[in-house]
Amino acid sequence: MPFCKRCGSHIPEDAKFCPYCGAEQPIAVTPATPTIPATTFEKKDPGLTALIAIVAGFFGLWGIGHIYIGKVAKGIALLILGIIIQWLLGIAFFMATFFGMTSGPYGMMHGPGVIGLMLFASVIWTIIILVGLIWQAYDAYNLAKYYNNYVQTYQRPPW
Ligand SMILES: [Zn+2]
Repeated sequence: MPFCKRCGSHIPEDAKFCPYCGAEQPIAVTPATPTIPATTFEKKDPGLTALIAIVAGFFGLWGIGHIYIGKVAKGIALLILGIIIQWLLGIAFFMATFFGMTSGPYGMMHGPGVIGLMLFASVIWTIIILVGLIWQAYDAYNLAKYYNNYVQTYQRPPW
């Protein structure tokens, strides 16, 4: 309980004026307590996120970088998409081999056109897989940077 600076009466803690003599009271200076955020959010290393995404991607697993930074739904979607695309690549290779092996010596019965077409399809799928592999790692890298900026600005994770 503080006292009035002029008359010495007991006055309420938050009184701006003394209720007895009316003297204005100095604003109580509370010791400055350091403002500690209730929770500190760990930042995500964009480089490490990209590395995880690329290494896992080489093993056929896309979206692991996304899952690492908490973008679980997108990560799982990329994982499934990557598996589907790589299965299609496998089927394309299989069919190229199948047509090549079963149609006479060196598969020339169907003509080089069919084999060429299948190999061309395989090359296209390989390019798609490489582009997909790099893109999903790049996307995870950017999302990690976005996550860090968001946490720094709003003191909470964006997802
Ligand atoms: Zn007073």
